[in-house]
Amino acid sequence: MSTGRILEPTTESIEHCARHLQRGGLVGMPTETVYGLAADACDDDAVRQIYRAKSRPAGNPLIVHVSRPEQAQRFTEGWDAQCQRLADTFWPGPLTLVLPRSGRASDVVTAGHPTVAVRSPAHDVARALIEATDRALVAPSANQSGHVSSTTAAHVVSEFPELAFPVLDGGMCALGIESTVLDLTGEHPIVLRPGAVTARALRNVLPDLEVPVIGEQGASPGTSPRHYAPNTPTVLVTASQIEDRLAECTTPATVLSIGPRKVTGPHVAVEMPDDPDAYARRLYAGLREADESDGMLILVESPPWTDGLWRAINDRLQRACVPPLSP
Ligand code: AMP
Ligand code: MG
Repeated sequence: MSTGRILEPTTESIEHCARHLQRGGLVGMPTETVYGLAADACDDDAVRQIYRAKSRPAGNPLIVHVSRPEQAQRFTEGWDAQCQRLADTFWPGPLTLVLPRSGRASDVVTAGHPTVAVRSPAHDVARALIEATDRALVAPSANQSGHVSSTTAAHVVSEFPELAFPVLDGGMCALGIESTVLDLTGEHPIVLRPGAVTARALRNVLPDLEVPVIGEQGASPGTSPRHYAPNTPTVLVTASQIEDRLAECTTPATVLSIGPRKVTGPHVAVEMPDDPDAYARRLYAGLREADESDGMLILVESPPWTDGLWRAINDRLQRACVPPLSP
C-alpha cells in the first residue's frame, strides 16, 4: 500500500515519478547500495535543488546513473576497451567509474571538476525509473550531507521531512553500503571509496589497481573525513574495551555490538551481525537505531576483520566516528 510520499513501485507510480523527473522534480530512488535522491542529470536547475535539499557542499560532485553503458559513454571522454570490460563485468552493479567528462556532463554535476562519475545500478526499480524517464539521473545518497545514509524509503522521508518529493519503495537495500568508486583518470586505476566490488574482484580486470590505506583515500573531491555520522557522539572501540568504557559512562550509552552482548542498564545494545554481507545491509539502520535510543554516546564495536567487504564497512564506521569540527 502506498502511504503519503512513499509509493509502491507499480508501473503507474514509476511513470508518475518519471514525469516528475522530466519536469525538473526530485524523486527518492531505491538502488541496491543505498537510496538515492534522483534528478535529471541534464537539468542543472533540478541538480541544484539536490545540493540545496542535502546542504551538500558545492565542491562534492554527483554520480550519473544510467541503465546502459552506451548512456554512460556519452557523459565521458576516452571510454576504451578497459572501461567496456569493467562495465561488462560489474554492471549493473555497485561500481562507479570516474573518467574525463564530455560536454554533456555539466559543471553542476561534476562540481566543476574535469572528470565525471558514472554507474549503472542493479535495482529493478532504479532501472525501470531511468528507462521510463529516458534520461540519465544523478542520485547522491538520500540523506542530509554528512549524515547516515538511507537504506529504506522511511529513512528517506525522515531525512527530508519538509520536502514533498515522492519516494519509490524498493524495500530494504540489498547491499546497504555505497558503491566502490574507481578513478580511471590517473596513471594507475585507484579506489577512491571502497564498496561491495572489492579490490580482489577488480584486480581480475585491473592487475595494476592501487588501493590506498583506509582513512587516507582523501583524493575523492568533496569528501570529508566525517561522513555517515549519527547525531549522537559516536566512537569506535575494540570488544575488550567495551566493559571499561561503559563503567566510565555516567549517562546512558548504546553499544553497537557484533553479535549479542549483555549490558547492564541504563546502557543498551543494538546487535549487528558478524557476517559482512548482513552487517553491511544493516549498517545504516543499526546506526539510526542507536542514534534514536536514549544513549548519549554510541560505542561501536570495531570489527576485527579487514578483508573483502569489511574494508568498506570499516571505512564507513571510521568516518561515522570522526567528531564534528568545533564551531
Ligand atoms: P554519494 O552519491 O553522496 O554517496 O557520493 C558520491 C561520491 O562519488 C562522492 O564521494 C564523490 O566524491 C564521488 N564522486 C563523484 N564524482 C566524482 C568525480 N568526478 N571524481 C571523483 N569522485 C567523484
Ligand atoms: Mg553520501
